[in-house]
Amino acid sequence: TTFKDLGLDPKLLAAISAAGYETPSPIQAQAIPHALEGKDVMGLAQTGTGKTAAFGLPLVQQIMHSHDKRVAKGVKALVLAPTRELVNQIADNLKTYVHGLHLKVNTVVGGASINKQVQFLSRGTDILVATPGRLIDLMERRAVRLDTATFLVLDEADQMLDMGFIHALRRIAPELGTPRQTMLFSATMPKQMEELSRAYLHNPVKVQV
Ligand code: AMP
Repeated sequence: TTFKDLGLDPKLLAAISAAGYETPSPIQAQAIPHALEGKDVMGLAQTGTGKTAAFGLPLVQQIMHSHDKRVAKGVKALVLAPTRELVNQIADNLKTYVHGLHLKVNTVVGGASINKQVQFLSRGTDILVATPGRLIDLMERRAVRLDTATFLVLDEADQMLDMGFIHALRRIAPELGTPRQTMLFSATMPKQMEELSRAYLHNPVKVQV
């Protein structure tokens, strides 16, 4: 399989080869075609398998193809991850994929200046990568609106379960736009993940490496 076979746009194919990716990893080959069709995805995959591109490329392609001027400044996609390090790593990957596409990727994480985050959020963000706690702080300050976001990614969801994630998600998910595509990735599938999936995913395609 090639990235082209997966249905990716030539602009993204260029970004992919510029990033030095030659062939899709197994999780990418399995997830990308379904994700591009807008299906919810539940992925069992560890870090290092290429899961960021598995959700990131379909996300970018769909946003690129649906560029809606009415919500020009609105957040189109929200990616939640458990730690600052992972948020930054995801954002760095996404920035390589959006190269030359005029899409803005921003991060909000605890431990960084909240005032700076308030400022750049007011200037517009297409893809927001966040830790749940800081995102909720910003929501409570009304510094971020998520009603234009129709893509939600939960990365390393099992790690987030240990951090009161179910509670955070109950607060965050209702703020997003509808209909919404949701992709959940986790290295393990504890029983709570099934509940999470039932609550937030709609007929998910299950992929696993
Ligand atoms: P991830 O599992 O998403 O954290 O990705 C692990 C590393 O592999 C990252 O540095 C990616 O940039 C890289 N990567 C992802 N997909 C591919 C691919 N198809 N070919 C080569 N490297 C890749």
